[in-house]
Amino acid sequence: MEIDSVRCECCGLREDCTQEYITSVKSNFGGIWLCGLCSEAVRDELMSKGKKKKSYGLEDAMKAHMSFCRRIKSNPAVCVADGMRQMLRRRSGDLSKPASVS
Ligand SMILES: [Zn+2]
Repeated sequence: MEIDSVRCECCGLREDCTQEYITSVKSNFGGIWLCGLCSEAVRDELMSKGKKKKSYGLEDAMKAHMSFCRRIKSNPAVCVADGMRQMLRRRSGDLSKPASVS
């Protein structure tokens, strides 16, 4: 199995992955490779926003997440991975709340 080093287009994290895995991730995200955390965040973004807005697509979710990553990266005090973990935690917290919007 061929192992390649790839760099996340969002947060810049480097990972060594099999070419098979790289290809499958790229085909999921329109030719862009995202690390595990970023792809999770994009999927999460797409799920939550896509529910409210039908026209909200994968590209929008990726754009939103990339600008989120840029914001974190511009603040050297915050680690990207930590920021994302916090975001995911906050999101899952939101989901467990009863829906009050009717
Ligand atoms: Zn990433």
